[in-house]
Amino acid sequence: MSKTGSCLCGEVDFTYKSEPVMFLMCHCTDCQKSTGSPVASIIVISEDNFSVSGPTNSYKCKAKVTRSFCKICGSQIFSRIKSAPGVVAIKTGVLDEQPNTKPKLVCWTKSKPDWLEINHPSISFEENPN
Ligand SMILES: [Zn+2]
Ligand SMILES: [Zn+2]
Repeated sequence: MSKTGSCLCGEVDFTYKSEPVMFLMCHCTDCQKSTGSPVASIIVISEDNFSVSGPTNSYKCKAKVTRSFCKICGSQIFSRIKSAPGVVAIKTGVLDEQPNTKPKLVCWTKSKPDWLEINHPSISFEENPN
C-alpha cells in the first residue's frame, strides 16, 4: 500500500507510515448519514504516523466521533474517536491504494439495510464492539 490518500477535489491529502492496527466495516447510522452509503469501510492507524495537509473542517457527532472532511469538496478524510485516543480512523475510499487485506470485523449489523447483500467478516457485532 502506498499509505497516501486524498479527497475528491485533491486539495486535501495525507500520509501515514505504520500498518493499520484495524480494518473494519461499519453499518452505524452515523456512518450511513455521513458517507451517504449503507456501509463504511475504515482503517484505523496510529495518530503519530498520520499527517494531513489542506483545508479541512470537522463535525463532532453525538457519539463523540469528530469527523474531518475537505472544506471544498466534502470528502471525509479522517475521524477521531473520543473513546479511542491516539488513533485516527480513515475511510478506505479516500486511500490512493486499497488495503491488500480483508476487513477483520463488522459492527452495527443491526442497522444494515435489508436490501444490501454483503459478505461480512466472521467477527461481527450488532452494535459497537465490546
Ligand atoms: Zn476536496
Ligand atoms: Zn459507523
